[in-house]
Amino acid sequence: MATDRLDALRGPVPPRPHDARAIAALAANPGCARRAVLDAAGIDKDSTARHLGFPAPFGQSRFAITRGDVFEAQVKANGCAGLLRLLREVLGLPIPLVAYHDAADVGAHLRHAHTRALIDRAARDSDDAGTFYDHPLLSLEIAGHTSYLEPDVVAFRLGGRFHIVEIKSFAVIDGQAEPAKVAAAARQAAVYVLALRRLVEELGHDPGRVSHEVILVCPENFANRPVATLVDVRRQLAVLRRQLARMTGVGDLVSGLPSGLTFDLAADADGVPTRPVAELAEAIGTVAARYAPECRSTCDMCLFCRDEARDEGSTDLLGRHVRDELGGVAGVDEALALAEGTRGPADGQEEIARLLRLADRLRAESLEPAR
Ligand code: SF4
Repeated sequence: MATDRLDALRGPVPPRPHDARAIAALAANPGCARRAVLDAAGIDKDSTARHLGFPAPFGQSRFAITRGDVFEAQVKANGCAGLLRLLREVLGLPIPLVAYHDAADVGAHLRHAHTRALIDRAARDSDDAGTFYDHPLLSLEIAGHTSYLEPDVVAFRLGGRFHIVEIKSFAVIDGQAEPAKVAAAARQAAVYVLALRRLVEELGHDPGRVSHEVILVCPENFANRPVATLVDVRRQLAVLRRQLARMTGVGDLVSGLPSGLTFDLAADADGVPTRPVAELAEAIGTVAARYAPECRSTCDMCLFCRDEARDEGSTDLLGRHVRDELGGVAGVDEALALAEGTRGPADGQEEIARLLRLADRLRAESLEPAR
């Protein structure tokens, strides 16, 4: 059974719960079997990467976390009064009256049930007035395990539709924000949209009442003045659904793995991993990876997989666009040999070989000294 195989891959430790950031990151590289297996098994990728000697190069600094908390508190101050002004602007609606509910009022252990009750009541209510739900606790089933999502978002209901509001502390300068940060925020907001849609559906309401347009709130320019933008997350939702379905169907992936394979770190009584590093690296290497430079900001295993891709001379290192353009040419050496004509194309490689030779000729001509 897939669950037993996944438990064996993880070893005798509880599965690691996924937060929204981790779930969002699943959608960042949907083609990677290694990530799908590690996440479906609930493996602690951070500890695994550390033990392999390749700790992840990211993680928010204390300063960035504090700045984010201060900005979020500012946006939500006085029952979200400032947020209401922004929503009036961005939704272009006269929102006369807003009720504010804090789902955290009941204490952490009851928050999920309280969120369900609040959302159910709101979905039944035909009243058109706006309502904020602060600190909702949502859940999402990931490969058979329930993950609870504690968003820094507010679900806002207006005219019978729910909107997710995502508050981020990266700056929007002259109407532009860093595309990678916006993309990550959109993926994360899509996780909340999906979780809220599933909750609304479970409660017997139409999931389409949760809008695919999320409201992203960021500080504008170099001041802390918040500005709101509508972001359409339909594409991120589609990728996320596909990736979650793939994890549910991860049985096909694990059934092809060698029996007895495990990624267990064999922690001692103090929680220190004792598994020989080379043995663990070999075990991880049995599941195919699909490294892309984007992994560096989304997956704890990135430095390990990059090193592996380097050793293999993989075209994955050049980025998804180049890799896709190169079709079935998997290695940098192979691509160079085709370009230089020292190797003939295999069946189906004729066109890419012609393009590589052309690119090589153009490069040589452009490097020739002017006559
Ligand atoms: S870092 Fe490795 S495991 Fe993670 S998504 Fe990229 S290739 Fe897959």
